[in-house]
Amino acid sequence: MADGDLVDPTDYGSIVRNNLMKRPFYAPYCMCCSGFNRMKWDGEQFACLITRERTEFPAAFIEGYKARWHAPVQASAGQADAVKGDI
Ligand SMILES: [Zn+2]
Repeated sequence: MADGDLVDPTDYGSIVRNNLMKRPFYAPYCMCCSGFNRMKWDGEQFACLITRERTEFPAAFIEGYKARWHAPVQASAGQADAVKGDI
């Protein structure tokens, strides 16, 4: 456990899953590339930016992950307005 981790005693089944649930902005290391790239959240799974390979976390885990970090935000309408304002 590192600074900034959520205090959550639940074991989600693996170190990576525990990090995903407890560490803000954590992304897993890419499993398909030789380097140490991190994968990027694409809204449903994590994906490699180079090969587009995606993780295959079970739906139940992804549901909990999204509920924790990616819950629908009320500010989306405001964000759209901000984008229009930039044009
Ligand atoms: Zn990769």
